[in-house]
Amino acid sequence: MTQKKKLIAGNWKMNGSLQANAVLLQALRDGLGAPGCGVAVAVPAPYLAQVQALVAGSEIALAAQDVSQHETGAFTGEVSVSMLRDFGARYALVGHSERRQYHGETDAVVAAKAQRALSGGVTPIVCVGETLAEREAGQTETVVKRQLAAVIHAVGHCVSEIVVAYEPVWAIGTGRTATPEQAQQVHAVLRAQLAAATESADRVLILYGGSMNAANAAELLAQPDIDGGLVGGASLKAADFLKIIAAAH
Ligand code: PEP
Repeated sequence: MTQKKKLIAGNWKMNGSLQANAVLLQALRDGLGAPGCGVAVAVPAPYLAQVQALVAGSEIALAAQDVSQHETGAFTGEVSVSMLRDFGARYALVGHSERRQYHGETDAVVAAKAQRALSGGVTPIVCVGETLAEREAGQTETVVKRQLAAVIHAVGHCVSEIVVAYEPVWAIGTGRTATPEQAQQVHAVLRAQLAAATESADRVLILYGGSMNAANAAELLAQPDIDGGLVGGASLKAADFLKIIAAAH
């Protein structure tokens, strides 16, 4: 069994300020020690430069919350992968459910973004997940497999280089977490789908996201196919985020 390092990524969403970011990152740096897992923060684009400087020399990697599917040009408001690279971003979220829901991102757009990120040297954290209605209709597997299939198809032989995040939409920001068994069940489905596409499926990190917090992280992270967490609300509080990181050893 390959020993792989878990990854805990915070998604700040549209939160933060110059002052709040500095306070949060100082507290994280002070409390981090030598983490037994990878750590990243996905920050709003205007703060990439600030956070790049604040995490320099630490174990904290910089992530973006989105990336354009286009390389360059007349795409007002978008941020390209080369721009993210200019600020040292190592990861970019793609297909977060809030992007799918509020910005109409389709599976095809998400797949194009994942492919663009990879080819530009940024690791996409590909978010998949079903809505409550889809779960209740017994569609969970079908939905997450359809979402991941689009990305697998787009990235081809580079599939082992992506990170996947399973985020049931009904668990995001709701305080309602998937049980470890519910999450593991879907992670196993995703792992099997990856295994059909690459011999290195065991190497692919599959994160769980959806109201992960200091109290439930250890149990979720103990599941065999849960390789880390994508953490929204709890990543804005240094003490909580540090506890989740500590649970990921
Ligand atoms: C997220 O935004 O990806 C997320 C999982 O949010 P929360 O942890 O707040 O549910």
